[in-house]
Amino acid sequence: MNNDETLIHIKANLIDIWNECGTKPLVAEEWFALFQGIIQRYFDIQTSELLLFQYETFIPLNFHHSNDLKFQTIRWTDIREKMENPVLLKNLTILPPRYSIYEEAFLFGGKEEEPVAMLLIQATPAWEEFRESDAIYGLEEVIRHFIHTVKKQIFMRQQEKQYRDLFTVTEMVHATMDIDRILEAVLHAMDSSFPRLKTELVLANDQNRQTNRKVKLFDYSSEREKAIEAYVSGEVLFDPLENEEMYIMHVPIKGRQGIYGLLKVYALNDYFFSKRQKEFIQMLAHTFGNALEKAKLYHQSHRLISDLQLINETSHKMNTSMKMDEMVYFLEQQLEKSFQPSEICFVFIEDEEWDVTTTKSPFFMNEGKEYLDFVSSHFLKTNEALFLADYHSKVNPHLPYASLMAQPLMDRGEVAGYCLVLHENPYYFSFDSHKLMQSLIQHCSLAFSNAKLRLQLQELVDRDHLTGLYARSYLDKYFSQSLENDTEGAFLLLDIDNFKHVNDTYGHQMGDQLLCQISSLIKKLVGNRGISARWGGEELAIYLPNHSLEDGSLVATNILQSIPTHTSPSITVSGGISHWNQLNKPDMKDIFQSADKALYKAKNSGKNKLCI
Ligand code: GH3
Ligand code: MG
Ligand code: MG
Repeated sequence: MNNDETLIHIKANLIDIWNECGTKPLVAEEWFALFQGIIQRYFDIQTSELLLFQYETFIPLNFHHSNDLKFQTIRWTDIREKMENPVLLKNLTILPPRYSIYEEAFLFGGKEEEPVAMLLIQATPAWEEFRESDAIYGLEEVIRHFIHTVKKQIFMRQQEKQYRDLFTVTEMVHATMDIDRILEAVLHAMDSSFPRLKTELVLANDQNRQTNRKVKLFDYSSEREKAIEAYVSGEVLFDPLENEEMYIMHVPIKGRQGIYGLLKVYALNDYFFSKRQKEFIQMLAHTFGNALEKAKLYHQSHRLISDLQLINETSHKMNTSMKMDEMVYFLEQQLEKSFQPSEICFVFIEDEEWDVTTTKSPFFMNEGKEYLDFVSSHFLKTNEALFLADYHSKVNPHLPYASLMAQPLMDRGEVAGYCLVLHENPYYFSFDSHKLMQSLIQHCSLAFSNAKLRLQLQELVDRDHLTGLYARSYLDKYFSQSLENDTEGAFLLLDIDNFKHVNDTYGHQMGDQLLCQISSLIKKLVGNRGISARWGGEELAIYLPNHSLEDGSLVATNILQSIPTHTSPSITVSGGISHWNQLNKPDMKDIFQSADKALYKAKNSGKNKLCI
């Protein structure tokens, strides 16, 4: 076979290989193995190696497989001038030592256009004979085209695979809200496209995700400077690792509304991402960013709905004429459910005093006082809500709770009190919690001020206007409840002696004043033993539940004795007392009547005395 015939045969062989394998997903090494078969057959070449041209350098085929190989690249500029012939290099001593087993280098391309590849061989007589002929140029052209075609085919296959991965991820984003599955798909796409690179996801901490080897939390305090820069700027940044032969490519995970983290790709220093690879990774990160964003919005809208339901339910319940303490109790439960605080308390301003109305624990009566002082003095100055994530560093490091939220209870534009929640951990309450608590308390403020008004109105009905003592209707209610619930009780009826005379002498106004003097004295002397009421005119009544006749008489005598010395002009009163117990349980009217009878007796036996 002459050299031209050999060339034709080789051409035919290459066409056969292409026909057979063109559609198979072979990698570069496999293609080269097929090619080696040909040069073995026609030139008896047993040992050869192919280096592909990339970025002005010839690179071994399995370049990425080992760390050593990256020192075995051959720079185009180093050999360009040393070529004996447009396609041949015979002096291989200028190559890295690894290639010393070869005798010749056969170059494809490099004359007019840039090189495609370099074949290193151990020369044989058949080869030496062939390469001296002009057919060598024909062979160069054929192989150059072949490598071109194979390269293109491999490239398209890779690209197709990447698009397929990207498509899978994108499709998943549209089909599911399950971020963990999407996250897995992203990592899988990276691993399958770049099996020799390490990929890591770093997510901003509002993602609430479980972290592991591949998913980390973005931490400003410990993150690399370049990572923070990439996260903030949204740009892809390259970041060489100190003392290592690697670098990181930081790819921001961007959505439409923000940046949610970084995709970090670790590569060896001489690994060069092509434009297409970079685009692929960016698209993957972007798709993931959109997925995170979508899921976030989805959860947010769900939360918004449940928040609204909570506010609605709470303010509805609060406006069903509950009593103040019931309202506080109910609201405490709602707050507990929503924020899981460690301490809750409500504080109401009563006559310029800050009263702690209820608390779960005695904390606020003791060491917790300092929190109350702090919050109270805040609301003396402003009606702005308080939201402190780190009480320790801001105010006092020696108290047990670090997170604090306080909302004012407003009543007709004035701070009427506040609600305070606390927790041990700093940054425990989210800003969303703060906003929710604000809405909740704002919606309940009106209910609180209504309850207060109701209370005031009831007081008005229950109390006698002139003396401030209870009205008779209230006494009736109180008495009948006591008859049901208690074991005994003493009832005392008092009548001012010669009051007509006082009126006639000092005037009706002085009479009123005297009535008030006596009333406040009685209120003080009765204290919380029972209640005192205006029975009518200048007659007053006192009821002492769970008092024996003796105890009741002691209280009555004390009152009768105190009045003359505590009134001016000094007056006296007469009293009649009656008593009930379980053995003798008459109805209310009878008890009133016997007290009245006793009073009559006192009046008729000289006044200023107590009769039973
Ligand atoms: P005694 O009870 O000791 O028998 O003599 P009295 O003068 O107190 O008795 P009487 O029941 O005759 O008169 C009661 C007087 O009390 C009549 C009325 O002018 C006076 N009085 C009743 N309610 C009020 C009141 O709200 N203010 C004043 N200033 N006087 C009242
Ligand atoms: Mg009278
Ligand atoms: Mg009288």
